[in-house]
This record gives sequence, structure tokens and C-alpha cells, in this order.
Amino acid sequence: MAKEDYYELLRVPRNASDDEIKKSFRRLAMKYHPDRNRDNPQAEEQFKKIKEAYDVLSDPKKRSAYDQFGHAGVDPATGAAGGFGFSGETFSDIFSDVFGDIFGSTPGGSRRRGRAQRGADLRYNLEITLEEAVAGTETKIRVPTLVTCEECGGTGARRGTAPITCPTCQGHGAIRLQQGFFAVQQTCPTCHGSGRQIKDPCRACQGQGRVQETKTLSVKIPAGVDTGDRIRLAGEGEASDSGGPPGDLYVQITVKEHPIFTRDGANLYCEVPISFPTACLGGELEVPTLDGKIVLKIPPETQTGRLFRMRGKGVRPVRGGPPGDLLCRVRIETPVRLNKEQIELIQKLDQSLSGGGSHHSPQTHSWLDGVKQFFDKLGL
Ligand SMILES: [Zn+2]
Ligand SMILES: [Zn+2]
Repeated sequence: MAKEDYYELLRVPRNASDDEIKKSFRRLAMKYHPDRNRDNPQAEEQFKKIKEAYDVLSDPKKRSAYDQFGHAGVDPATGAAGGFGFSGETFSDIFSDVFGDIFGSTPGGSRRRGRAQRGADLRYNLEITLEEAVAGTETKIRVPTLVTCEECGGTGARRGTAPITCPTCQGHGAIRLQQGFFAVQQTCPTCHGSGRQIKDPCRACQGQGRVQETKTLSVKIPAGVDTGDRIRLAGEGEASDSGGPPGDLYVQITVKEHPIFTRDGANLYCEVPISFPTACLGGELEVPTLDGKIVLKIPPETQTGRLFRMRGKGVRPVRGGPPGDLLCRVRIETPVRLNKEQIELIQKLDQSLSGGGSHHSPQTHSWLDGVKQFFDKLGL
């Protein structure tokens, strides 16, 4: 039988990016995953094909060999091993490397055959404002998830009936095959590793034991959280597909950008414009903090870029400890749209300052010195 084209299998164009290939594979893998298609052997066949296609196209070396030589360039020398099939572990491994960043991994890693397994963990990305992050908040989220089917209590068998022990594997979930000298353990083709068989499937869940549902949950966000923090809601993940406990839900926090403040850990930073006269003569300035305005004293002869630290006006860290500081950087604003009189005044001021030589411009003076030394070294 001629092999199908890998790009066609993954439904991507030949010039698809790695990201497009990965995305398309995820979508197809979800669709054809054997756990979601218990009674459909074609789905498992399709899953194997797309997994093989992905193995090749996600590896730059193999992909370029395939592009040049077709299947002959990459075909694994499986030959006699045609019947290996996929074990439960393999599916789980695929899930943890491709889906790891969505679902997280379950403790214990691989699926154990015929045993109750914990439901998958879920992740929910939540964006909050800086104010909410600093003060803490409570919010409702809607999470699409799989919950235990109420009709059958999660067994997948029609109400009043129960799953039977799989006759092919006697409930072990795996069978042994003799292949030449080797005995190979293979996932039971009848029950796909669950060890059970449902003769009369529940109609509410089509024998899956779980149904799709959007849950509304209330999440308490503690004060002081930052981007990257996550909140665990125990037992709010997916229901188990084998009678085990449900997984957990992780709420992943992202703090939105603030128009005034930027945050670095417990410290907050902001920039404040000050007028040229205030910078020269000193004065008072109202600056914002997260709990209202405060007055900042600007000393005379303040240079642009100077950082003023307001102790304790930052963020109280979520893991305890003293609050951080608020750091305000002042920027001297050059006056604009000057009228004739103002221009004359500034020209007068300039003449007066020039008369004082370097006396009034300490930075210019040291800067010019630096420039002079630089050129002297070059011998110019
Ligand atoms: Zn059901
Ligand atoms: Zn079986």
C-alpha cells in the first residue's frame, strides 16, 4: 500500500512553519486520540499515521530528507515489527511532550494499565490589572472541562449495567505476543488498555464516562501576585477516565501593563515630568502611588533622570516580607510654544549663565573634559 504524504496527513502546506505543523498535529491528535475514540479502530490507525508524520516533519533533519527523497529518505526500518502498535505509555509520552505545556503532567507520569488514573490537570490563563494584583481580588472564571457523567456515574456503562472484565486480556490491559524470539507486550486491542469492556454504553456520554462541560469557578487571587505565579485549585481539573480522582486546575497569572507604573518584583517604577524652574529652584510635586497621591519634595538643582525613592510604597510580596519601594524618576521638560517675551527672557538667562563660565554647568564641564581627554589620547 502506498504511504500517504506526511504534509497531507497533517493538513499543512509543504512550506508550513514548525509552529503550524505543531498546531495542526495537536488538533488532529486530539481528534483521533484513542482515549477519545474507544470504539473506533480507524481513529487509532489515523493517530499512528499522523504521529509518524509529525515525528518526521518536526525533526529538521528528517524533514529535509523527506522533502528530498520522500518516504525512502526517512522510513524507519520497522519491517518485521509491524505489529508493535502503541502501548499506553507511548500515548502518554506523546501527550506529555506535545501537550505538556497545556495540561501539565500527571504525577507518576505514564499511564498504568487497567488501573484507576488521575484526571488531567488543566491550565487557565488569567489576566489581571496591577491594582488587582497588588490588592488581591476575587474573580469568576469559566473553564471548559470534562466532568464525570452523572447518568452512569463515570463507568460509561448504561444505567443499571456495569462494565465487564475484558475477555481478551482478563483485565490486565495488555497482551503478550510472540514475535520470533521475542515476547512483546502490547496494549490490548479490545479494551485499549483499560481492562474493561462496555457491552451497553451509556447514551449520555457514549461510553466515555465523562462529558464536556463549562464550569464556572470562583478564584481568590491573593494580594501581591505577579506574572508567572499560579494558583492551584485542587480537584478542579478534568475528571478521570478510569475512576481515579480528578486532576487539578492551575490558574496562571499575567499582570497587564499599567499606564503609569512598571513593576520589578516588589518595587514599582514611574517617570514624572518636572518643569525647568522647579528643577532649578526646587519645589513640591504630587506623585501617584497605588493608594493615592503623595507629595514629593524636589530639592533645588535637581538634574534630569534623578531617582527618588519612596520607601514602602511598592508592593507587599505574596510570599510575605516587607513591601517594596516606589521609585520615581524625574524628567525635566523643555518648555515649548514660547512667546517673544519668554524667548527674550531665556536669551537673557543664557547670557547670564554663560557669564559664569563652567560654574553653572557642572555636567557640561566634566563632559567637555572627558571629550578633551579622549581626543588627546588619540593624538588629535
Ligand atoms: Zn455516561
Ligand atoms: Zn483488554
